[in-house]
Amino acid sequence: MKVHEYQAKEILARYGVPVQKGVLATSVSGAVDAAKKLHAETGAELFVVKAQVHAGGRGKGGGVKLARSFEEVEEKASAILGMMLKTPQTGPEGQKVRSVLIADAVDIEKEFYLGITLDRQTNMTVIMASTEGGVEIEKVAEETPELILKEWIDPAIGLQGFQARRLAFGLGFEGDAFKKAVKFILALYDAYESTDCSIAEINPLTLTKSGDVLAIDAKLNLDDNALFRHKDLAQLRDVHEEDPLELEASEHQLNYVKLDGNVGCMVNGAGLAMATMDIIKIAGGEPANFLDVGGGANPSTVEAGFRIILKDPAVKAILINIFGGIVRCDRVAKGVVEAANKVQINLPLIVRLQGTNAQEGKQILDESGLKVETAILFQEAADKVTKALAG
Ligand code: ADP
Ligand code: MG
Repeated sequence: MKVHEYQAKEILARYGVPVQKGVLATSVSGAVDAAKKLHAETGAELFVVKAQVHAGGRGKGGGVKLARSFEEVEEKASAILGMMLKTPQTGPEGQKVRSVLIADAVDIEKEFYLGITLDRQTNMTVIMASTEGGVEIEKVAEETPELILKEWIDPAIGLQGFQARRLAFGLGFEGDAFKKAVKFILALYDAYESTDCSIAEINPLTLTKSGDVLAIDAKLNLDDNALFRHKDLAQLRDVHEEDPLELEASEHQLNYVKLDGNVGCMVNGAGLAMATMDIIKIAGGEPANFLDVGGGANPSTVEAGFRIILKDPAVKAILINIFGGIVRCDRVAKGVVEAANKVQINLPLIVRLQGTNAQEGKQILDESGLKVETAILFQEAADKVTKALAG
């Protein structure tokens, strides 16, 4: 689960990570009040108005703007609030800005990158740090990977002091700022571990002209599978930031990921779903989604799956691919017939059944009166998808 920058900063502050001060606002007048409140608290004269959306690269997209007075806060907030902010991490239509963070503008001496995530290759947490902060770290990783310092953390003993010192040293921190940077890294790791993050990223981490080490931006991704033990964090979910179809799917406990293709698919099992997406590509199509209906492909999950797939206007054909292992194919076939009779399907529908009672299932579909193409073999299903797309 992603959270907004302002929420990430609140969480990090609880673990002693120094973050720059800010106040959230959801209206233009609220933004001016926020700036006044900040001025009263910190004496800030310069402000930064920051769009709160679940996507990075906001600065380049026009979602982060400097304001030199309360009037400018008003002007910048009214430009940003309500805008469809486009960044490399949003869809092409952009993401609607519903709130802004009014932050204290910091006098920046230098910007760094600091990120923590899981390295699946080594099965260890990795901390990455770079002097090339502020810019896209993906670009640094591609073009100048030697500029990214890494420390791998043994899960049994956690981050060691010498590792934090090695990173701070590698970034070129000296004197008092060196001590602050070490503390920062240790605190960020504590926050990452304690809240079960999958990503904690500070870009930029800044050294200010007055010698402080501060997080100016913060991105936290929380592990969905651990949210049950962080009830307070689970409440930070912002459904406005999620794809509406993915949201609907999660309400039906369906594993659905929206993609950009033209063949909708419904499959039981994540591995088979991946293989099905490959088959769609081989057949000349592009998968419109990933959808794993799980072990119990019953009429109501199949119906929910149909409704979600059909809401995607790009879908030109639907492929259902079921392996009858735990479920029997005849039961799934009955479920498909029942669901298809409730949901109007005007697209070519291909159903491939394999496993327990596959023939019986095929027969049920063939005799159902539905406009459905059935298949037993993967190749047959692929050929039928090709045919459906051609005409
Ligand atoms: P994003 O990564 O989404 O573009 P950031 O919060 O990193 O958003 O802001 C982009 C850039 O704007 C930063 O790299 C920094 O240079 C500048 N910036 C953002 N907030 C502040 C601030 N409070 N004071 C000074 N500069 C800021
Ligand atoms: Mg940033």
